Amino acid sequence: MALIIDGKKIAAQIKDECREKVAAYKEQGIEITLAVVQVGHDPASNVYVNNKKKACEYVGIRSLSYELEETVTEEELLALVEKLNNDPTVNGILVQLPLPEHIDENKVTFAISPKKDVDGFHPYNVGALSIGLKGYVSCTPAGVIQLLKRSGIEIAGKNCVVMGRSNIVGKPVSMLLLRENGTVTVTHSKTENIKEITRQADILVVAVGKPRFVTSDFIKEGAVVIDVGIHRNADNKLCGDVDFEDVKDKAGAITPVPGGVGVMTVAMLMSNCTASVEINERA
Ligand code: NAP
Repeated sequence: MALIIDGKKIAAQIKDECREKVAAYKEQGIEITLAVVQVGHDPASNVYVNNKKKACEYVGIRSLSYELEETVTEEELLALVEKLNNDPTVNGILVQLPLPEHIDENKVTFAISPKKDVDGFHPYNVGALSIGLKGYVSCTPAGVIQLLKRSGIEIAGKNCVVMGRSNIVGKPVSMLLLRENGTVTVTHSKTENIKEITRQADILVVAVGKPRFVTSDFIKEGAVVIDVGIHRNADNKLCGDVDFEDVKDKAGAITPVPGGVGVMTVAMLMSNCTASVEINERA
């Protein structure tokens, strides 16, 4: 049976470390503020936004909440982002995605000041990651790296295969693994003989967006398997992109769903908000 990587425990450690840093900043008279903007009332977004606000409360970060109606115009939303960009008391800005169809998500993401882009989605921060500059790293990919490092899993020199090349998961995860000196291969829907490639992986990161897609025949004995996927099955239970039951006895280590990568995203958001003080000072 594989080592089950405990995302809940690691996320709690990271939030506690942030809480200490935030308390130390408070003693120096520095308060960290995250502005959370939500458009409409999508139930999944409500859950994510509430989790983020709760985490802020725990860590000691002030959160400002902007709940806009589904009918808000793109101009109105951009004007709010601009106002928050210019507000010196706001350290981080988060616009919860997805946005309604009449609003161009890229336009909004690109309008957020890179210095306040705690989601790490702005092209400046994406570029900074790819050329090795400091900046905000998007939360889920950063969480994947923390899960590996804090579980004592060596990345340097290892064969790392990332399944998926999305802008929010696959690409940044692969850049981060490369930064950690892994030897990285990225696969996608057009990849031929995919199992031959994934079976070479010492570390396999799965972000294909297909429930229980990866079975034991995709992996080599003893591989570390990180499952980024989140899905709800017909019984309303959560599952990942990996068939956990089928893979767990062959893998050397594996993340469960829930309790693996998912819980890390908010923890890394807290980490980015805490780092915003330094990032804003440097700028
Ligand atoms: P996405 O944008 O749908 O991208 C999926 C990627 O998988 C694409 O690059 C696609 O290839 C590739 N793919 C699809 N079918 C494949 C196949 N049969 N073989 C190999 N590759 C295949 O998904 P995403 O946004 O990266 O999300 C991936 C998963 O992570 C989802 O389950 C999502 O819910 C979850 N997620 C979790 C968190 C979190 O834990 N907080 C955050 C974000 C996402 P092409 O590029 O060729 O289409």
